[in-house]
Amino acid sequence: MNKSYDLIAVSPHPDDAEIGCGGTLALLSEMGYRIAIVDLTNGEPTPFNDNPQVRIDESLKAANILGIERVTLDLPNRELLDNIEARMKLAKVFRKMRPKIVIGMQGMTPKASPDHYQSQLIFDASVFYSRLSKWEHLFDGMKPWRIHHIFYYYTARELFTQAQPMQFTINISKHFETKKKALLAYESQFRAHPSYNPPIIEWIEGMGRYFGSLVGCAYAEIFYGSTILELNLFKQILG
Ligand SMILES: [Zn+2]
Repeated sequence: MNKSYDLIAVSPHPDDAEIGCGGTLALLSEMGYRIAIVDLTNGEPTPFNDNPQVRIDESLKAANILGIERVTLDLPNRELLDNIEARMKLAKVFRKMRPKIVIGMQGMTPKASPDHYQSQLIFDASVFYSRLSKWEHLFDGMKPWRIHHIFYYYTARELFTQAQPMQFTINISKHFETKKKALLAYESQFRAHPSYNPPIIEWIEGMGRYFGSLVGCAYAEIFYGSTILELNLFKQILG
């Protein structure tokens, strides 16, 4: 992990980043960029999987399908909390992998895992910790790494969304099938018990189509930003 990464997507559990931005990760990978997902937890236990290794194998298969790398940290699933230990762990990864762009999961999911919102708090703090000076002794001597571009992916389902000043979409029409294939790699989550989670693929398809319809393409993923970008938008609109 010595070479810098172009983009890191941080995921509370293996599968969240794929749901939110798997198509975009596949697209960027195809363009030749170095991309990784960093899972904060291994996502286990879950109701229908008894062996954590199964989920790890599924997540590696999904990463392979998307053409990206993957690092899975050992923070506790279901008990994930924004604390110093978690922040330091992710900030160490940022200092080591030196990403130009980081993307985190956005918003609260009141009917799903509370880990999701905690992951956003950890993510935001870790971006800050990554750049702090005079902390090399806490980071195995690793120098500060400043990340200028911070965005959030969106998973839509039963989500409380905070107002975000900036939104944009990425056209993933050509990569939607790859995204779907990556998600179906999670047999223990999305295939093993259709009675538990039958509409997952339909929901992801619907979400992609909805955001696509807003911008005039077949499928899109939406992102939010806390970064102010200098962008000649008028030129893009007017040609
Ligand atoms: Zn999750």
